[in-house]
Amino acid sequence: DALLARIDAVNPGLNAYITVTAETARQAAQAADTRRAAGESSPLLGVPIAHKDIFCTEGVRTTCASRMLADFVSPYDATVVGRLKAAGTVMLGKLNMDEFAMGSSNETSHFGPVKNPWDAERIPGGSSGGSAAAVAARLAPAATGTDTGGSIRQPAAMCGITGLKPTYGRVSRYGMIAFASSLDQGGPMARTAADCALLLNAMAGFDDKDSTSSPAERPDFTAQLNQPLQGLRVGVPEEFFGAGLDPEVGALVQEAIGQLEKLGATVKSVHLPNNPHAVSTYYVLAPAEASSNLARFDGVRYTHRAENPKDLIDLYKRSRAAGFGAEVQRRILIGTYVLSAGYYDAYYRKAQQVRALIRQDFLNAFHEVDVIAGPTTPSAAFRLGEKTADPVSMYLADIYTIAVNLAGIPAMSIPCGFTQAGLPVGLQLMGNYFEEARLLNVAHQYQ
Ligand code: GLN
Repeated sequence: DALLARIDAVNPGLNAYITVTAETARQAAQAADTRRAAGESSPLLGVPIAHKDIFCTEGVRTTCASRMLADFVSPYDATVVGRLKAAGTVMLGKLNMDEFAMGSSNETSHFGPVKNPWDAERIPGGSSGGSAAAVAARLAPAATGTDTGGSIRQPAAMCGITGLKPTYGRVSRYGMIAFASSLDQGGPMARTAADCALLLNAMAGFDDKDSTSSPAERPDFTAQLNQPLQGLRVGVPEEFFGAGLDPEVGALVQEAIGQLEKLGATVKSVHLPNNPHAVSTYYVLAPAEASSNLARFDGVRYTHRAENPKDLIDLYKRSRAAGFGAEVQRRILIGTYVLSAGYYDAYYRKAQQVRALIRQDFLNAFHEVDVIAGPTTPSAAFRLGEKTADPVSMYLADIYTIAVNLAGIPAMSIPCGFTQAGLPVGLQLMGNYFEEARLLNVAHQYQ
């Protein structure tokens, strides 16, 4: 009730929620009480949570912040939603995001932009901007997010919360509306690493409904939280501290790395020489996959449908032209172009080759260090409207997060201080495959 009242009071100014499910939340809270009275003691029992509106929720509309799905009600729960429900969490509602998770500022949503709780003239980051803003403004103690190129970590950094993108395959993609299937990964967003560990315990693990789900055993992600950092080897990539990094952000991140050293870690420089190619590689591969995934939104089933179509082609064209926003249409055009005969080898195949090099850079670095640390974003939250006219400047907001998705490794963002203007800054920690527990350990020790 306290959270629902706070959502009523604060959400109109932030626009973090697309849908609030007050009645079902009260019922779920009561059900949790009954389970507790019956002796159950799961750590998430009765804990309120809100889901990014990319996760299908049975009986509650799932919009992906698109006009295309504005009235879509899924007949089933995403695996992530079902698992968190089974663990006893209480869903408060569905959170705003960039349309189909395409964006870095939450300005592409059909339901309007989300405001940053620290400064309402600024963006919260994206695409999981509603999730980050809701947790930062205390409209939910925890939220789910998804990260295809930085969409958990970048908004977490810009709103001053903790967010974790797991190893590709760790968390099921079943029922999570697909953007770029080889990059998409769901994960927790919360105040602290300890909270994220509890959430990941419920979210992660093999799912036979997702063909890329990893059979790797799910550890207890809280088990290592209290381990001291003595002997930990931290790598700092020189490529993450070059031109384009706001000096104030750079200084706060260096200070945080110094803190890890005080906690017993040793710090050394590492190289990720292909990182400068990550953004261009991503903007070939992600649109290519998106153009294929979004072909299913055809005006025939579960989507926005144009009225009085002349024929089937007219139905497709007009439904898609009206249902998708400008950024989504841009991605479909780019993706279709790079996959077309004659350009496939020059763009798509080349990008796949560079992707392999980017992955190899990380494997080489992890021969020498246990975790890699650097900034999450090149700057703190920018102003609403500042980058909307220039897609490339928007794409560069993900310059430090995208390589992680191309490699499929886990990474997180944790708050590491504020700029002079009072805006939060994030420290990014990257780990080797399936080493989420180590990242959570480092983050928890720092916090
Ligand atoms: N900003 C990136 C994009 O627009 C990443 C989005 C994401 O991770 N979902 O593609």
